[in-house]
Amino acid sequence: MLFSLRLNIVMNPRRLFFQHIAQTSDAPLAIEIKKARGSRLWDRQGKEYLDLIAGISVCNTGHGDPSVIRAIKKQADHYLHALVYGEMIETPQVEYARLLAESLPPSLNTVYFTNSGAEAVEGAMKLAKRATGRTQIISFNKSYHGSTQGALSLLGDEYWRNAFRPLLPGIRRLDYDSPEALQEIDRSTACVLMETVQAERGVYAPSPGWLHALRKKCDETGALLIMDEIQTGFGRTGTLWGFEKYEIAPDIVLLGKALGGGMPLGAFIAGRELMGKLAVDPVLGHITTFGGHPVCCAAGLAAMKTLLRKDLPARVAKKEKLFRQLLQHPRIVALRSAGLLIAVEFDMPATAKKIIDHCIAHGVLTDWFLFAPHCMRIAPPLTISAREIRKACAVIQAAMNSL
Ligand code: PLP
Repeated sequence: MLFSLRLNIVMNPRRLFFQHIAQTSDAPLAIEIKKARGSRLWDRQGKEYLDLIAGISVCNTGHGDPSVIRAIKKQADHYLHALVYGEMIETPQVEYARLLAESLPPSLNTVYFTNSGAEAVEGAMKLAKRATGRTQIISFNKSYHGSTQGALSLLGDEYWRNAFRPLLPGIRRLDYDSPEALQEIDRSTACVLMETVQAERGVYAPSPGWLHALRKKCDETGALLIMDEIQTGFGRTGTLWGFEKYEIAPDIVLLGKALGGGMPLGAFIAGRELMGKLAVDPVLGHITTFGGHPVCCAAGLAAMKTLLRKDLPARVAKKEKLFRQLLQHPRIVALRSAGLLIAVEFDMPATAKKIIDHCIAHGVLTDWFLFAPHCMRIAPPLTISAREIRKACAVIQAAMNSL
């Protein structure tokens, strides 16, 4: 026993990673991360990376936000897990729920905290079925809502879904931003679940007219409108919530990623009366042991306070503009952005891969999109400076020139 422990300590972590960590990719980045601060990461060999993906839209206030670290340490000193969700009054949880409710439209005032985004999706689907007594759920082609069985059933791409059948029955997938699709919503529809901006498709925002018509159709048919702000929330698109720009409110909003300030946390948020359906017939309509963990809520609360104090969402438009100005090149086929959620489109996946690989080799961390491997992802911490943007874009330009 002791021998094998000692052996592991002297073994190469890279080797352990490939030996003992379940691999789901044929080409993981496998950067041995040592430290992260602001928009920068360092590996164990001391190489510095400028982070253009923020842990996939998580670290909106930057890595190592000092107020988040302080909040985590303080909460850890008081208590960690006390009891399953919803029994104890835990100060970080109730304070965070209040701040979220105060920052959302008044109709979204009751928070159910989960462990992840996908779990928030699951809870919201259950709530919609329970509240409407209907079974049909509508989602959209090229949408991503998570990898659990229910969330996967919504996923709008056959390649990623097919191997895991049978999936949830009663799901219909329509075309996003398509007026014809709205005709399919009727009185059998429990909910329409959509991303405010389709991220993994390569950043597609809906037209305001379509979204208003969708809201109207949901009102007419009694279907609940659920907006997934897991990637677009917390200032990513330039307003605190992505739906704010459209001047509509969903019946249920889904949060995750930046919600936890770098810790695992998700939430579905609805009105008090609607959410109350999970307390009757059956009681305990949704259960989680760790959802709303006090340390995660303390971290998320601190991060959201930083976001609001520094008014980070208001600074997004200027940074988006700078990226757009600096990223002009014959290799770029299209550039779509919703604030600091940017897709740089190339002619084919192989081109994007070469450019992404070049960037990473030269210290700029970027990525592709699940349904758009021909696009490069730019979604940095919202705290990224103009200097860092210029530096990153110079590397991207060099990568494009090198082809
Ligand atoms: N919804 C959207 C829009 C996402 O981008 C993701 C994750 O990438 C999820 C839901 C699922 O969140 P999680 O990975 O925390 O389960």
